[in-house]
Amino acid sequence: MTARILDGAALARAIREELKPEVVACTRAARRPPALHIVLAGDDPASALYVRNKERAGAEAGLVVHVHRLAATATLDELVALVGGLNRDAGVDGILVQSPLPAVMGPDAEARVFDTIDPRKDVDGFHPHNVGLLSQGRAVLTPCTPSGVVELVERSGVTIRGRRAVVIGRSDIVGKPLAMLLLQRDATVTICHSKTADLPAVAAEADILVAAVGRAGFVTPAFVKPGATVVDVGINRVTERDRVVELFGDGSARLADFDARGSVIVGDVHPAVADIAGALTPVPGGVGPLTIAMLLRNTVAAALGRLKPAPPG
Ligand code: NAD
Repeated sequence: MTARILDGAALARAIREELKPEVVACTRAARRPPALHIVLAGDDPASALYVRNKERAGAEAGLVVHVHRLAATATLDELVALVGGLNRDAGVDGILVQSPLPAVMGPDAEARVFDTIDPRKDVDGFHPHNVGLLSQGRAVLTPCTPSGVVELVERSGVTIRGRRAVVIGRSDIVGKPLAMLLLQRDATVTICHSKTADLPAVAAEADILVAAVGRAGFVTPAFVKPGATVVDVGINRVTERDRVVELFGDGSARLADFDARGSVIVGDVHPAVADIAGALTPVPGGVGPLTIAMLLRNTVAAALGRLKPAPPG
């Protein structure tokens, strides 16, 4: 392995430490800690785990975190009504609706719920108002995973300005907002997706390559320019032993992990990329912890923003 490993877990800890004085100042000014309210609808085990991690990290940082649970049978109207109540509640600074929502709520449910959240409390940065501000380069609340990627790259000393960045994935929560953030930092940005022709060749032009696809080991060395910085956003649970052997080899620590637990979490980037990339984020322990740190930062920003008088009109 030649790539420098970018330790997201360590950076996330440092950011959470940096936030502590801000949380104290905010608590003093508001006479209560910043309050994050998370809505968890349904019983998706991965979502439940993400929410537990957010709850724990928030409490450790001195925030109040409240989780509202809705049954998998809850209707979209019930969810919208719950969010409406949180919008009106002066004791709520940040609202996060954990996705995915139960399929029974319909294909447009997420968009409808995100549209409902008060933009000043939208700590995920998914409301169209905040998406618009992001595209104009003046967002306060930016989506957490893309912000975490940029934070990790910048604080690792990797130059973004003037570099070629390729983002594989065009989702509203990762690919598109990340492309905007990189553009604002003066990268020359290409967004790739499932219909991109000659994807490995396009990716191999990147100085900074981001994989946000959702396919284990998808980005092979053929996608990577030697020395490039490769950021792996993917979180994929691999449950077939043969696939783990294919990716990590017989006798690897990850295979031992698999044998102990029956599955392993794998990124979108193939392990062999470590031999060609200049720097690489691991999975787990790369972008994931940064996502939570950015959520805490957004909650504090939302709380501070709500202390200011509302703009006229
Ligand atoms: P998504 O399914 O919404 O989007 C995937 C994107 O990949 C799409 O834009 C699609 O065009 C593209 N894609 C799919 N197949 C492709 C192919 N063959 N070639 C090129 N592009 C292809 O997923 P998402 O929500 O953006 O998440 C992407 C990955 O990031 C997932 O593994 C998800 O679990 C992970 N994720 C991680 C974090 C974190 O905190 N680390 C946060 C959000 C998402």
